[in-house]
Amino acid sequence: MTSKLEKALARLVAAAKHLNIDTTILERLEFPQETTHARLTIRMDDGSLKSFRAWRCRYDDSRGPTKGGIRYHPSVTADEVETLAFLMTVKCAVMNLPLGGGKGGVQIDPRHLSKIELERLARGYVQNFAKVIGPNRDIPAPDVNTNAMTMAWMADEYASIVGERTPAVITGKPISLGGSLGRDDATARGGYYLLQFLAKGLGFTQGARAAIQGFGNAGSHMAQLLESAGYKVVAVSDSKGAIYCPAGLDIKKLNAAKERNGSVTKLAGSDGVSRIAAGELVSVECDLLVLAALEDMVHAGNAANVKAAIILELANSPITPEADEILKSKNIIVLPDILANAGGVAVSYFEWVQNRQGDYWAIEDIHARLKTMMEEEGAAILACAKDKNITLRSAAYVRALSRIVEAIEAKGT
Ligand code: NAD
Repeated sequence: MTSKLEKALARLVAAAKHLNIDTTILERLEFPQETTHARLTIRMDDGSLKSFRAWRCRYDDSRGPTKGGIRYHPSVTADEVETLAFLMTVKCAVMNLPLGGGKGGVQIDPRHLSKIELERLARGYVQNFAKVIGPNRDIPAPDVNTNAMTMAWMADEYASIVGERTPAVITGKPISLGGSLGRDDATARGGYYLLQFLAKGLGFTQGARAAIQGFGNAGSHMAQLLESAGYKVVAVSDSKGAIYCPAGLDIKKLNAAKERNGSVTKLAGSDGVSRIAAGELVSVECDLLVLAALEDMVHAGNAANVKAAIILELANSPITPEADEILKSKNIIVLPDILANAGGVAVSYFEWVQNRQGDYWAIEDIHARLKTMMEEEGAAILACAKDKNITLRSAAYVRALSRIVEAIEAKGT
């Protein structure tokens, strides 16, 4: 069976065909530089000891210290961690950040842990991987089921181990412990800046209709940004189901419903809002489809039903390679994850820089820097796609690979 990593690497191999590169360099990128696997044992509240599998992967540090989140999930595997670390390597290169790619994971369902057990888990993770991570080596951040509180415990544990405060070892921290302003909506905002920059060329006008799959951090912030720019958000979904309102949903009410009832679906039945099957979301009548939930949501079985002219990938790998081909044949433009959701890692990078400088930036500066980055890289990728007559995804891989190869070659043997 093809591993997740092999599937992800296929996109890099395809990009390499557009570049004149030494094949040994490509071979080198076929597996990670370093993956550490640890047994993480913590004391539970009832006095028992429980052990969990944990990983940290540094996929490639040719362009700088590795960077990537830590995920807690029962289905985490070494293959998944390495695949996500590979994607981070590509994403950091797409954005021209002086960073390589990394990722971490613990095979655990955190919903069954108390707050103090979660704190022991976070501290245990750092005790196991303290030699792997470091502000000049590998810089973790939040991912699925980890958050600012987790990062605060981890940064504190690292400080105890090395004997000095080292905020730059981890990003996504609370503001009071050296976190950056603007990190909360950075992923959606980066995607939004990219979309707005390309909007005119893509034929988008005031009142364009958007459907959003996933209403968590990325999806809900995107909904707010789109509404304030005059888009009509006609459909949204979460893990409980989907709703549709052709006249446009009220995002404030959506947020309130999510807050109150844990799901956007509770808004159905009032103000022209109707419930639709979760699977229908990708095929509703709209101009823009935002994918902000999970991987592989648009696949060979539903790609042909997509009506949107443009898809913005805020989630990682939400479109399978087979679906990519179908969307291409329908001339649907995909703004690819490694560019469209890179606002999160860009602001994480800003946090790392601020921690190292001891100088903290105003929110306006953060937004302005992010906007410039998204527009510059977006324009370059668009030009590369036109020049080589390839998709934006392929063009993003081509640019990332050429930057990684340049760094590898510059170092010599
Ligand atoms: P989140 O957990 O806050 O939100 C995920 C949302 O998806 C939730 O609303 C959940 O109910 C919904 N969902 C789950 N299964 C679904 C399904 N089958 N159909 C429809 N909706 C479903 O997560 P997030 O931080 O918003 O991340 C979303 C995606 O974006 C993930 O793929 C993540 O890896 C990616 N991403 C996030 C960031 C970030 O900074 N938050 C950065 C880069 C990439």
